[in-house]
Amino acid sequence: QQWQASVGPVAAPEGQMALCVFRDLSDEVLASQMRRDFVANVSHELRTPLTALMGFIETLRGAAKEDPVARERFLAIMARESGRMERLVQDLLQLSRVEAEERVRPSTPVDLAAVLRQVTGALKPMAESLGAEMELEGFDRPLTVPGDSDQLVQVFTNLVENGLKYGAAGQVLRLRATAENSIRGPALRITVSDQGEGIDPIHIPRLTERFYRIDGHRSREKGGTGLGLAIVKHIVQRHRGWLKLESVKGVGSSFSVILPQG
Ligand code: ADP
Repeated sequence: QQWQASVGPVAAPEGQMALCVFRDLSDEVLASQMRRDFVANVSHELRTPLTALMGFIETLRGAAKEDPVARERFLAIMARESGRMERLVQDLLQLSRVEAEERVRPSTPVDLAAVLRQVTGALKPMAESLGAEMELEGFDRPLTVPGDSDQLVQVFTNLVENGLKYGAAGQVLRLRATAENSIRGPALRITVSDQGEGIDPIHIPRLTERFYRIDGHRSREKGGTGLGLAIVKHIVQRHRGWLKLESVKGVGSSFSVILPQG
């Protein structure tokens, strides 16, 4: 732990007194370390696709100039790498927007049943390409919470996308809505359960950190930015809700979002 002490004289009715203020610096040291790590991570994540793009531009100008087959292959890789950069920049912007708004709780009534229908509709092609099915349970009634509709779409898009990405091919991804009583009163719980390989408990406390990945290669291969769950955490916090994870190795993972209704 690091401390900073400032000592100064103060005027008091009985004469001069000394005032000594102790400040715990460990949070500040930690915050500036986290900032440095974040900048280093962003730079690394941007530099990797950028280096690939620059390399392929050189190759296209030189050796591959007269080879249409190689040219097409390299252009496809370049499109993939620039897509990766675009997703990263989009996620970074989203994260900083949510962080900036975190103190203000959104209050527009949002129907989670409509949100989940929108999300599963948009991700249907992805599910189909993986031979997965999405099963909805408990969404046949209005499920209203005070919130920000676009941000809640983002939360469930990230969770359903992860469930599809990290779940087994041909799996059934279950989405369930239930009512529950939270310490903030009546709440709705939405659970996304996949049939993937599950998550080792040692990773769970760090999973919502920015750029934390269990398997970096696998995440990048699937187009992940490593920011999805960090964005989910901040949006859920802004809604004064909770994110919970239950996972059994070899069986699957269930991510639950609990949102207070009042
Ligand atoms: P990414 O863009 O890498 O998917 P996320 O922040 O969404 O980033 O997730 C962080 C990491 O958590 C992922 O890289 C992956 O290792 C792990 N993860 C997230 N969701 C699941 C899931 N449903 N099953 C197994 N692992 C998961």
